[in-house]
Amino acid sequence: MTTQRSVFDAAELRAQFTDAGINTKFIASIWKYVLQNPGCEFEPLTSTVNSVFHSTDGVTTKLLIRLQNGAFVEAVIMTYDTRLGKYGGKPRLGGPRSTLCISSQVGCKMGCKFCATGTMGFKNNLKSGEIVEQLVHALRLTNIRNVVFMGMGEPLNNYTALVEAINVMTGSPFQLSPKRITVSTVGIIHAINKLHSDLPGLNLAVSLHAPVQEIRCQIMPSARAFPLEKLMTALQTYQKNSQQKIFIEYIMLDGMNDEEQHAHQLGKLLETFEVVVNLIPFNPIGSSSQFRTSSEQRVSEFQKVLRGTYNIRTTIRKQMGQDISGACGQLVVNLPDKRTRENTGLVTDIEDLRI
Ligand code: SF4
Repeated sequence: MTTQRSVFDAAELRAQFTDAGINTKFIASIWKYVLQNPGCEFEPLTSTVNSVFHSTDGVTTKLLIRLQNGAFVEAVIMTYDTRLGKYGGKPRLGGPRSTLCISSQVGCKMGCKFCATGTMGFKNNLKSGEIVEQLVHALRLTNIRNVVFMGMGEPLNNYTALVEAINVMTGSPFQLSPKRITVSTVGIIHAINKLHSDLPGLNLAVSLHAPVQEIRCQIMPSARAFPLEKLMTALQTYQKNSQQKIFIEYIMLDGMNDEEQHAHQLGKLLETFEVVVNLIPFNPIGSSSQFRTSSEQRVSEFQKVLRGTYNIRTTIRKQMGQDISGACGQLVVNLPDKRTRENTGLVTDIEDLRI
């Protein structure tokens, strides 16, 4: 079977233009044409939208995307109308705006214990064009203002394709500001060390999930390869070079990492950094899950310690899209079940911080 290359595989297309003696400045015009003409006469996309699921939360839409190798990945759109007051908060200037959560791999080899994708194992890396095509599919449904690499896969394990895809997204015709793109990683130290020079201005989110190495390894076995002390040193250098705050993701697991002592350990670990900590109530991924969700009270006490004692900006992620398996840690290729959970009533999300 011959493999078709995506028109959004920038390096490939540039090489072909150069070989043919065509000026590469025309590439942006071709991309613009493809974006504006979904049914155009030649089919330059390698992936197709297999199905679209709308959550009953009215905010989350999941796209099930079929790649040309037959594998599926998911991309999730979250749309908010800030004039109405996001999540029931105060109305703000602006209007409808959407964040797209993108996948970078089919499956993932990091095997985080709380994550549905981790249970799939690693299948393959997405090509840069396949990453960009998720944005193209989403743009055909709505305007996308922010992109977060928090879908399936560890983006820094697919580094070259990630860098190429983000360079396409920030260039013409997409013109996304790097400030509106967030890459979330479990902490691949060697990649963090070069990220700022390859992609300046980007937001970095680090899934820390525990304030000490031992608990981190229990939750995320891959953390063994990335000792916490070395990770924090890499983050220090990253922050010094980028002068940007870092987002810290912390999944709240009952009795595991959500006690007062953990909050103090985390506060001490982060107090010299410019960070925003995002506490994420755990989404159970089936009855076999070894973890339980922390109670709302625990989550709010944890937040109080970080804010009150260590003056660390700390938000609590509201769970969205659970009925369509579109919530954090739930991205695994399956059809959505019909369960509808009640909202937790908790407020704010990491994407909100950049709007
Ligand atoms: S949380 Fe991210 S890095 Fe960990 S297994 Fe899931 S997709 Fe991979």
